[in-house]
Amino acid sequence: MSKELTVKMGVKVPQSEFSSLDPNERGAFTVTPPPSAGDVEAQAARYALLMCPRCLYVGYVWIDTNFYKWFTCNSCNLPFRA
Ligand SMILES: [Zn+2]
Repeated sequence: MSKELTVKMGVKVPQSEFSSLDPNERGAFTVTPPPSAGDVEAQAARYALLMCPRCLYVGYVWIDTNFYKWFTCNSCNLPFRA
């Protein structure tokens, strides 16, 4: 059985909270899907498919909740949380 990635819907960040977002904690969509060579399991565990709650853009993100607290959409540029 292959481990399929499920798409997780992002959570909108209210505009009133935009200024409190720390730029150092911003994650981003990656252009490339998870690497298929090497330690796939380890790599895949750290990637997730995330959907922008506003424009429904779907992309891979590098998930590390200790580091990335929020993301910006590649398409509409709005911040949201995973
Ligand atoms: Zn978007």
